[in-house]
Amino acid sequence: MKKILQLSDLVIDQIAAGEIIERPSSVVKELLENSIDSGADSISLRISDGGTARIEVTDNGEGINHEDLPLSIERHATSKMKSIADLDRISTHGFRGEALSAISSVSNLLIISRSINQNSGYRLEKVNEDWTCHPSPSRKGTTVIVEELFYKIPARKRFLKSSSTESSHCKNIFLKTALIHEGISWYFYNNEKNIVNLPTMKILQRFAKINDISVDMVNYIDEQIGPIKIKACLPFSNNEIRKKNHQFLYVNNRAVKDRTLIHAIKSALEDVTHGSKESGIMLSIDLPNQLVDFNVHPGKVEVRFKDNSAVYQAVLTTLKNNLNNPAGIKYTNEISSLGIQNKIASFKKKSLPDNSSSFQNPIQKSLGLESRYDSLNFEMKDLNNYRNINNSVPPLGFALAQLQGIYILSENSEGLVIVDMHAAHERILFEEYKKNVDEKNIKIQNLLNPIKIELDNKEAETVINNKQVLSSMGFIIFKIDSNSFSISGVPELAFKIDIRSIVHEIIRDLSDFGTAESYESKLKEFLGNVACKSAVKANKIMSLKEMNNLLRLMEKTDFGGKCNHGRPTWTQISLSNIDKIFMRGR
Ligand code: ADP
Ligand code: MG
Repeated sequence: MKKILQLSDLVIDQIAAGEIIERPSSVVKELLENSIDSGADSISLRISDGGTARIEVTDNGEGINHEDLPLSIERHATSKMKSIADLDRISTHGFRGEALSAISSVSNLLIISRSINQNSGYRLEKVNEDWTCHPSPSRKGTTVIVEELFYKIPARKRFLKSSSTESSHCKNIFLKTALIHEGISWYFYNNEKNIVNLPTMKILQRFAKINDISVDMVNYIDEQIGPIKIKACLPFSNNEIRKKNHQFLYVNNRAVKDRTLIHAIKSALEDVTHGSKESGIMLSIDLPNQLVDFNVHPGKVEVRFKDNSAVYQAVLTTLKNNLNNPAGIKYTNEISSLGIQNKIASFKKKSLPDNSSSFQNPIQKSLGLESRYDSLNFEMKDLNNYRNINNSVPPLGFALAQLQGIYILSENSEGLVIVDMHAAHERILFEEYKKNVDEKNIKIQNLLNPIKIELDNKEAETVINNKQVLSSMGFIIFKIDSNSFSISGVPELAFKIDIRSIVHEIIRDLSDFGTAESYESKLKEFLGNVACKSAVKANKIMSLKEMNNLLRLMEKTDFGGKCNHGRPTWTQISLSNIDKIFMRGR
């Protein structure tokens, strides 16, 4: 008896659907993308019961000709490409011609569409197992309705979560898809209730709106590095945005998940917010199609860059350069509205570490990194000298007084400056430690009992090619035989870290990104903690001279505008705002 059978088209479609349609939000993604591709400038999404009962997407795009309608639900039928060469210049979201056929194989699908060249609309639906297409009143554009998702596939249905979880997945996909398309108005209804309205507006405004923060809390970046265009929205403080799903990543306007971009963001932010793993951010990169492959996965959420490490470096450098601002130089940190109370409240430090015995911190001593607190007293020039020589007011102004032992009040040409002295000093120390580590030759600790590690072929090759890099970081590694290596020296600073696992991570980073990001991040976290322990504590009485010296150091320090946890170190209240408070007309 013959054992091998040709699968029916329906089964083939259902299997293929498994790759694209995992849950209602995957349907939402495909339908929204089709609407974007149609050139629509208004798109609305309605779901009921988490999308399991019904998903409806309506757009005002170019529509589908009635003779094309029956084809639109066929497998591998698309209007977006003809030959494989088109892949290199494709600018639409779709191109594989799989979504509608996959969706129709696992749901009840109905399409109503009126093409821009036709006077009436047409309706494509299944009647008694056969597809029919007949005239139907319709406005210009397309409506796709998907009902009873997975009704034929109970195994799939069982994997779905509660309808509130499914609808929040749908909402996430909706926001991620919508945010980047500034020229389209977006509407989202859940169980008939309108829950999101995004009229056409700039991405910065949308980002702020979605995250429910004010626009002046967001740093907007728009730069070009070689062929790579980079746009980003970075909130000044991530206290308000703690949800991982609020990372919006795009490559050529497609929402993606990408390890390279995530790592670049993580390491850029590490300098600002060490220890905080989750950051709300929008990052969009544009690069020529030849440098990126979207045809990696049927869902098209993963991409492959031709040069991973170039993309990594470009993003990292751009973000870093924009974050690396000594206080008072680039941002005004201005409190611009009269909602001062709220903003100050949200900036307020959580808790200040209370013991101050850490000036004699043994770790710090062993690193040769003495606290700079004393230097605040002696190193800087006399304040009057400063005024005479410069004849101008420095960005953070001159100290007036200390408030509650926590804040420094200072006067500059704009008005009043308030500085969180612990946060500011913490940043100054952190940057100084990092510099010491960068500039000094790393001290290597030789291990009495070398550690043996086994590597696979690729890892072994990476170690051999990067011997120099590894030893400059303080790791001395020798080959024993083809895949066994011995670690005989480690950087003194790494004494508290699990050597075996960190070496594995370093090797993986070196082969993926060309740099050892994970090690640097651990080292920074460690130094950040030392800095936090060593910085001036609350209730430390400071003289005016010490305060002024702290302000001058802040102006010289990279990232001086933020403490190591990403909170602002200072803020400005302009005279005009103070005038507003007192209703004083000027
Ligand atoms: P793909 O998007 O990869 O081409 P789909 O299965 O998603 O494949 O869609 C098949 C075809 O149906 C598209 O190529 C397009 O021509 C047409 N189509 C689907 N949705 C729309 C829409 N909202 N507006 C206009 N045309 C559409
Ligand atoms: Mg499509």
